[in-house]
Amino acid sequence: MVDLKTQYAKIKDEIDQALLNVLESTAFINGPEVKAFEEEMERYLEVKHVLSCANGTDALQIAMMALGLVPGDEVITSNFTFVASAEVIALLNLKPVLVDVLPDTFNIDPAAIECAITTKTKAIVPVHLFGQCANMESILAIAKKYNLFVIEDNAQAIGAEYTFSDGTVKKAGCMGDIGTTSFFPSKNLGCYGDGGALMTNNDALAGKIRVIANHGMRVKYYHDSVGVNSRLDSLQAAVLRIKLKKLDEYSFARQRAAEAYNKAFGGIKQLRIPIRDPKSTHVFHQYTLLTDSIDRFALQEFLAKRNIPAMVYYPVPLHLQKAYPDPRYKKGDFPVTEELCSKVISLPMHTELTDAQIRLITESVIEYIG
Ligand SMILES: *Cc1c(COP(=O)(O)O)cnc(C)c1O
Repeated sequence: MVDLKTQYAKIKDEIDQALLNVLESTAFINGPEVKAFEEEMERYLEVKHVLSCANGTDALQIAMMALGLVPGDEVITSNFTFVASAEVIALLNLKPVLVDVLPDTFNIDPAAIECAITTKTKAIVPVHLFGQCANMESILAIAKKYNLFVIEDNAQAIGAEYTFSDGTVKKAGCMGDIGTTSFFPSKNLGCYGDGGALMTNNDALAGKIRVIANHGMRVKYYHDSVGVNSRLDSLQAAVLRIKLKKLDEYSFARQRAAEAYNKAFGGIKQLRIPIRDPKSTHVFHQYTLLTDSIDRFALQEFLAKRNIPAMVYYPVPLHLQKAYPDPRYKKGDFPVTEELCSKVISLPMHTELTDAQIRLITESVIEYIG
């Protein structure tokens, strides 16, 4: 699905040198690379604070701790997403409240959010799924109306931009109270191990996040609150500093591949190409087709025989996962999410796709459909 090897080969000299420099310095934790990366990321995102941590799941957990959410508080999130958002809500003994998504963008449905709000609701966690921003204009308006926090799960849309109706443009992850992201190798900005970050424009929240991510410690060995140990290490920061400089170029390569896919699949009635939200740019973390009356798994097998990977993100909605049984929900409660889970398929999407590869992929898909 991704080609990290070719990407690495193109930046090998720079990466190897940067890693060697960290090894020579032996400043593996909290070294100058980490601070430099956070500052460069702040400049790129035009946000006041970027606070790195160990992974995107930790980032979500730290965000909820920093906002002071306590057991029993309800947190609304999308049902059609990676498990992490619901997982940390459950781990903190908060109550995950799932809502359906929109059939066109696959992003959380603002009308469904409003219907799910109760007196216990404290926060909304929109996920900018597959590389495109959720409807932040409506979500922020709802949050304001009901006095709720907004945590943007931006693990899949780093670099995407959202335009509000007054013309203001903001980067994904920098619109709510806190944004979170992941630098897992296959993400749009990936390191060579695990990594993550939080972003916020709120100085007080940034201070709390910094303390929580470091054992609740402001002054060494004095612990003000219960925290966690969640750090980005210097080797990963060194890799990320190099890849951040290329992020826009990488996004462009993904968009170019998506356009070529769209051109090939646009007229095929068994496939629906990704629908664009005019308010958001799309950085195509995934290129996801909605199939109609074809067997996705047979298509996946057909492609696999030609060494073409294809994946189903996500096959099971959160409310039907074994780990999250909830008497409030049953099959049929989330018609859009359930339909998407039964009909989506994602094709290879990365920064190194060549025209020849795209041609092989599109011709194979079309040959299968017949
Ligand atoms: C990848 C991902 C995460 C988790 O990130 P990790 O770094 O793997 O912990 C969270 N949310 C979404 C939407 C993701 O895609």
